Amino acid sequence: MKEVGIYVHIPFCIRKCDYCDFVSFEKCSSKHNDYVNSVVWEIDNYKDNSFNVDTIYFGGGTPSVMDAENIAKILKKIRERFIVNQDAEVTIEVNPGTVTKAKLQRYYQIGINRLSIGLQSSSKVLLKNLGRIHTYEDFLKTYELAKEVGFTNINVDLMLGIPGQSIWSLKETLMQVIDKKPTHISCYSLILEENTKLKYDVDNGIKTLPSEDEDRDMYWNMKRILEEHGYEHYEISNFALPGFKCRHNLNCWNQKEYLGFGLASHGYMRGVRYSHTDKLIKYIANPVDITIEERQSEHEQKREFMLLGLRKIEGASISDFERKFSVNPLFYFRFEISKLVEEELIEVDLDHVRLTKRGLDLANQVWMEFV
Ligand code: SF4
Repeated sequence: MKEVGIYVHIPFCIRKCDYCDFVSFEKCSSKHNDYVNSVVWEIDNYKDNSFNVDTIYFGGGTPSVMDAENIAKILKKIRERFIVNQDAEVTIEVNPGTVTKAKLQRYYQIGINRLSIGLQSSSKVLLKNLGRIHTYEDFLKTYELAKEVGFTNINVDLMLGIPGQSIWSLKETLMQVIDKKPTHISCYSLILEENTKLKYDVDNGIKTLPSEDEDRDMYWNMKRILEEHGYEHYEISNFALPGFKCRHNLNCWNQKEYLGFGLASHGYMRGVRYSHTDKLIKYIANPVDITIEERQSEHEQKREFMLLGLRKIEGASISDFERKFSVNPLFYFRFEISKLVEEELIEVDLDHVRLTKRGLDLANQVWMEFV
């Protein structure tokens, strides 16, 4: 039977961070139970169950702001409704300071086996510049509690390009985090989104972002430091100790199917990408009001396979492409590929098409060829 992933969006946070344009609402605890009931209802009414579930991911927002029983209720419904593999990867995003030992114990007990903790930086000043509410000490406490409870697979989210960030503060954060030996580290570059407080602050000279050169310098230093400490760089922004790549995200980059439940969540089934409303009240009233974003033709699926596969450091697999579409991608995309090889943005080996070092810095230019 085929395997799919499940993503559940929990759109609540304690306070909105200055750079955030995710669909999340602050000070909304009165809506938690209604929201969870709608998610449970949506899962219960999903028509198809002709697959096994291999990964489950609770993302947000901050899923850990809700009572653990709400997460337990959703997970129970998923297990009732679908066949979940015994060794499924079950992740929950947690922000420092939003969990107690009891909450983490409950997560562990219900079968969550991977935590993703949003640290971003260990610097008090940088966290403040992002409008984050936690401190590095909050992170340490959350991390230690998680270890005590028994979690052995923990991701730490970091960020590059924070206003005021220097190469030295990044190195300090990396060394402090590496010292804790998380199994996985993600480090995304900050994107200045429209209609955020940070955008206003930057536009009005209140805060200054690192330059493009500084950002790239930080990126290459981060890569070097993490690799020197045994972390495999397996996706543009993701690093893992051996055996701990994030299966859920890898499936997405391998163009595998997944279901999305909850407000503003996206799903991908049978070549169709769909999404849910981002209006909380509307979702609670009608959780199955789904919008078809894209009904992909085979050509579009092929382009997307390359676009997603090129995010991986090993690249897009030629043999997987052939198995899926019965054509060699080197022939199908011969014009795009030869242009990008000539520009030294990608390289080709026996089974992969991948970004070069130069391509890692100019990945957007590569993706444009496959959009
Ligand atoms: S915790 Fe995450 S989702 Fe919530 S406001 Fe901050 S960045 Fe956005």
